[in-house]
Amino acid sequence: MKGRGGRRWSGEEEYSRARRRIFTLESRGGRSRALVEDLPFDEKFQCDPIESGLELILRGLEFLCENPTPRRRKHAILNFSAGAEALLRERLRQEHWSQVFQDPARATREAFERGLLPAAGLMDCLLRLEGVCGVEVPAFWRWGIESLARRKSLLELRGFVESTPVLVCIALAAARPFVDSVPPGRLTPSLAAILDAVRGKLTRLEGQVTEALRRIGTQHAGASLLNCPNCRLEGTLIVRGGPKCLFCGYSGRPEDLAAEYALDFFPDEDRFIYRCPACDRDALLDVGSPDEDPWYVCFACSRSWELGRLAFCAWCDQPFEPPEGSPDEEYCPACRRGSREP
Ligand SMILES: [Zn+2]
Ligand SMILES: [Zn+2]
Ligand SMILES: [Zn+2]
Repeated sequence: MKGRGGRRWSGEEEYSRARRRIFTLESRGGRSRALVEDLPFDEKFQCDPIESGLELILRGLEFLCENPTPRRRKHAILNFSAGAEALLRERLRQEHWSQVFQDPARATREAFERGLLPAAGLMDCLLRLEGVCGVEVPAFWRWGIESLARRKSLLELRGFVESTPVLVCIALAAARPFVDSVPPGRLTPSLAAILDAVRGKLTRLEGQVTEALRRIGTQHAGASLLNCPNCRLEGTLIVRGGPKCLFCGYSGRPEDLAAEYALDFFPDEDRFIYRCPACDRDALLDVGSPDEDPWYVCFACSRSWELGRLAFCAWCDQPFEPPEGSPDEEYCPACRRGSREP
């Protein structure tokens, strides 16, 4: 592109023009001129990435703690994800400056110093934290960061603003590791003050969740409550009357929720969704922890069976209740009748 003077336009030129302008403006102020000229250019506008990342997280938490209207929740998502990105990128920068770019293969020193290429987003940062820095990312933190990235995309793509309960759970999962991992050598008085404020907000949100869990436990004493795949709280998903989270309101088709449950809570295991012997819907799942005995729960009719109360048909592999008096029965009632194909 040609400039007015016929010379080739370059970002560098524009940059110097802007710089000259700032110096001219500052020089009119007399005293401030010296201040500006004394500093190398890049230091004048540089902020500590850890401090500014945590400041953005604090801002996000403030939007979430006080009167979280949809508009404030939108700002909570944007501030929170910008803060998380800044903190993750700073960790990557310590590994190598090229890692803060969306595409490290195109990284150049010039692009880094002059901001010529886009920076890495949340999910890229998370992947590189493991792959490049060799950090072992705990599952709960990973869930927090991935969920945050998804909510940001949903906001940008569809204008969807997530509900307060879910955002609170995501914020709690995503923020704690940042707060606990500030290197002591980087702690300044202003950073310490921000950290204190972030901790205060997190404690407040944790208190709200604990209180809600206590209320749910009291109101639904005796009911079997599972974990919610949406907000990841334990003991909030009631199955009776159709699966629904009593904290965040998440619900869905029993078949879909059983499948989501298996994928989210047992990603490394082959947990099959079986046909329920009571209601005949494909919504029966073993929800027992890997180190516990199986506990089969139907997400449709809410009936449940412990180990030994169900047998698996030798023909169709589906579970059934062995008839009284014949505990060694090998075939389910449908296969015995000859009405089921494997
Ligand atoms: Zn939930
Ligand atoms: Zn059922
Ligand atoms: Zn069968």
